[in-house]
Amino acid sequence: MLGPLVDSESIRRPMTAATLDQVELINPATGDVFDRMTLFDADATDGAIARAHDAFETWRQISPGDRARLLHSFAAAVDADVDNLAALEVRNAGHTLSNARWEAGHVRDVLSYYAAAPERLCGKQIPVAGGVDITFREPIGVVGIVVPWNYPMPIAAWGFAPALAAGNTVVLKPAEVTPLTAVRLAELALQAGIPEGVFTVLPGRGVEVGQRFVHNPLVKKVVFTGSTAVGKRVLAGCADQVKPATLELGGKSANIVFADADLEKAARTAPYAVFDNAGQDCCARSRILVQRCAFDKFVELLEPAVKGVRVENPELPTAEMGPLITAAQRQRVLDYLHLGDPVAIEGNAPHGDGFWLAPTVLGPVKPTSRVAVEEIFGPVAVLIPFDDEAEAVRISNDSVYGLSGSIWTRDIGRALRMSKAVQSGALSVNSNSSVRYWTPFGGFKESGLGRELGPDALDAFTEEKNVFLSDD
Ligand code: NAD
Repeated sequence: MLGPLVDSESIRRPMTAATLDQVELINPATGDVFDRMTLFDADATDGAIARAHDAFETWRQISPGDRARLLHSFAAAVDADVDNLAALEVRNAGHTLSNARWEAGHVRDVLSYYAAAPERLCGKQIPVAGGVDITFREPIGVVGIVVPWNYPMPIAAWGFAPALAAGNTVVLKPAEVTPLTAVRLAELALQAGIPEGVFTVLPGRGVEVGQRFVHNPLVKKVVFTGSTAVGKRVLAGCADQVKPATLELGGKSANIVFADADLEKAARTAPYAVFDNAGQDCCARSRILVQRCAFDKFVELLEPAVKGVRVENPELPTAEMGPLITAAQRQRVLDYLHLGDPVAIEGNAPHGDGFWLAPTVLGPVKPTSRVAVEEIFGPVAVLIPFDDEAEAVRISNDSVYGLSGSIWTRDIGRALRMSKAVQSGALSVNSNSSVRYWTPFGGFKESGLGRELGPDALDAFTEEKNVFLSDD
């Protein structure tokens, strides 16, 4: 019998003296405490890792067809629970209802996509003299996944779906403040027939649970999504055991608008490319670079678009932006707004309780100003004028980050030149979309290491073994 999966009721039980730490769960839209979550400590984490290690031998031996069926069942269980998962995320993370429903559906789709992978996990047959050379793709073992609070469901699925499909077992740590959907996903996995110990969710602190993923030698790979500062520490810790790590880190992406673009469309969509999820988005196009000769016209078009963003109770189906995640995050963003940069456009937000902040566009600002350089992770965009392609490339690339970005132009040659020149992992031309689960996603420079999603995601969750069979 394999070890137990986390049961959300038991981890929310009232604490007994000197047991595990607890965290209050706060609804960001109201500021009210609505639940408490008991957190795993280092010892409990090691116990769960040991059970995941025991479960690995069983899970990897399950035939490809059966593993595929179990992942399809998991996807079906998520599909049947979309409304519940979405409601949890609205309350726990302040996501708008429409976003949260999309996110739960996205988990289902990522699971369905990678459910097809076990039966297609092919090696190669490579021509050699004197025999046959074949390669195997073997699972690594226990994979530790660390998730941030901004997109708790999708980011979890980008790790656990391909990891499980490849035959690994998974221990997953949600962010302290947003554990509920991850805990529910673990329950759904169990309901779908995924064996106990194969997918375990461990709510806990980064310095406890996250660090055990890095240092416990039974964890064979770490997938970390979060800030660049913590990502660097995780990578340094993994180096001690030469433990592979995938890192998805911060961003300060550029939305580059040339004068020959469809300015109406670029301006209409720009607010949603940065203020979606209240700007708490690693792909937020928070630097809006506009060609100088079109600058005034673009700002004129941008203003009604920014003021039109519906910032309201996230439970409303009409809501387009909700609150920030915590009071501390709101204050962090306000500190940037108090640096003295000119406010070009200010949108609307509810007053009163909850961690609300109006979408704000600063500008024009210098490309070297703090608001133009640092990841604010809130509903703040900056406007930066540029003269030509060379200057747009220089400003765009003058960043430690390189995650996503957009290029708006009707000139296909310019679109190609810019796409090659901008140092970013996920670019879009005449569009602001960054994530499709069937295309690769990840960052250049300090935005990350490795790629998630797309057809090759299982490469990051397998070891390649090369075998030569002599024909002697
Ligand atoms: P964070 O780095 O503070 O925390 C991320 C996760 O790491 C949390 O679960 C946290 O508990 C854990 N953690 C903290 N210290 C740890 C440690 N020492 N060892 C192991 N784990 C530890 O980031 P955050 O504030 O939760 O998230 C916001 C950041 O995440 C932003 O910088 C954003 O750009 C980034 N992000 C990147 C992507 C991407 O795909 N590139 C996606 C979403 C968010």
